[in-house]
Amino acid sequence: MQSFNALKERTKDILNLKYATALLEWDQQTYMPEGAAEARASQIATLSKLAHEMLTADETWKLIEAAEREVDTNSDSLEAAIVRITKRDFERSNKLPSQFVAEFAATTAMAHEIWVKARANNDYAAFLPTLEKIFDLCRQQAEYLGYEDHIYDALLDIFEPNAKSAYVAKVFSNLREELVPFAQAIFEHQDRVSDEPLHRQFPLEQQETFGLMIARALGYDFKRGRQDKVVHPFCTSFSRNDVRITTRFYPDFLSPALFGTIHETGHALYEQGLSPELDGTFLADGVSLGVHESQSRLWENIVGRSYGFWSYFYPDAQRIFAGILDDVSLDEFYKAINAVKPSFIRVEADEVTYPLHIMLRFELELDILSGNLSLKDAPEAWNSKMQTYLGITPPNDSEGILQDVHWSSGIIGYFPTYALGTLLSAQLYEAALKDHPSIPEEIQIGKFDTLLEWMRTNIHQHGRRYMPDELIQKATGQSLTHAPYMRYLKEKYTPIYDL
Ligand code: ZN
Repeated sequence: MQSFNALKERTKDILNLKYATALLEWDQQTYMPEGAAEARASQIATLSKLAHEMLTADETWKLIEAAEREVDTNSDSLEAAIVRITKRDFERSNKLPSQFVAEFAATTAMAHEIWVKARANNDYAAFLPTLEKIFDLCRQQAEYLGYEDHIYDALLDIFEPNAKSAYVAKVFSNLREELVPFAQAIFEHQDRVSDEPLHRQFPLEQQETFGLMIARALGYDFKRGRQDKVVHPFCTSFSRNDVRITTRFYPDFLSPALFGTIHETGHALYEQGLSPELDGTFLADGVSLGVHESQSRLWENIVGRSYGFWSYFYPDAQRIFAGILDDVSLDEFYKAINAVKPSFIRVEADEVTYPLHIMLRFELELDILSGNLSLKDAPEAWNSKMQTYLGITPPNDSEGILQDVHWSSGIIGYFPTYALGTLLSAQLYEAALKDHPSIPEEIQIGKFDTLLEWMRTNIHQHGRRYMPDELIQKATGQSLTHAPYMRYLKEKYTPIYDL
């Protein structure tokens, strides 16, 4: 196993460079003084270059080939998975010529500023030439990476390994058939729920105290993590023993910090739950963005917006936010945090309408990449889909097609993972309940370890050992499907809106 061990040494060094880069990036978003921006960008570029060079070096390829002779790569062993995944990452990185990578990076770096301005000025035309260039580059990227059926698959695979757009389209179309009329029925009774209690004055310090208390109760290990404040919240890790979350606070709106903290805690629980056996290997990571998002959504929505959860935590909320929620009953609070309404902005959407925002983006990306829709006509297509799915038309492009950062960053094929994760959260929860029917009662008494342990055993510990679909099948007995999510929504929202 000499070569296998040498390969592991090498992946450990590459990972260390990546973790160091991630730490610099975390600092950039949290504490770095403004003046350091240029130097920091240069430091990150150097470390990224070193990591890329080490991964794509001939030496790495020789070690992979030699390790393949030592390990039966068709077996189910951990060693086999390590060699397979290292080879996958090596081949993917080597498919893109360095000149292309440089052009992609330069274009998207410039695009960010152009997009920020275009969004602020509601000026899609100003962004259009750049957006066309980015879609062209992504088409080239897809050709370099290769695909069998649809060009979209090559891009989707970056975020959701082995997923196919045809399968995603099928899942979404099944979901659409049930979700659109269900959302419509709720929209007709919007007046039955008020989210006013969430828009009161909540002191920031108390918001922080409450959020941390919940994160700890859910199982987030603060000896191996911490929380800091940022503009755009995220979770990052520099090993399974240092997994950090971030959040943002609004004085007059409780939800972003509270549910944002629970969301990022869900991501962090996944990373903290990786098996120590995976340390120093490329397996030590979430298996896909969809599966990662299933963990954040599970804790944020299925657990964190459930009645049982709040029957336990609401007395704490009333005590910590002294005097602010005295006139709000548990029932009213529960309804407020589950208010559903059609909205223009994806990141503000509730769990009923959220997947509709994603379907719209997926369909547009698919049409644009297939050449069925020009980017010039895309805003109109966006608005007409908004009308079809949500019954509203954005007043301008800033609240329509210009709202998301993804395309300006050269990220196409990413959006579906948000909805796949949302659907998967319900599928996993159903499977966990089958094994442990007492979970809802445990949540009512603030006990979360049975559910967490189930996720640890079935999802977290494996890291990237199995492909996403294989992992989902092992955990739930079937591939990803929309049905559990629709069951979850109907069971939850029918009484809330008295449908
Ligand atoms: Zn997330």
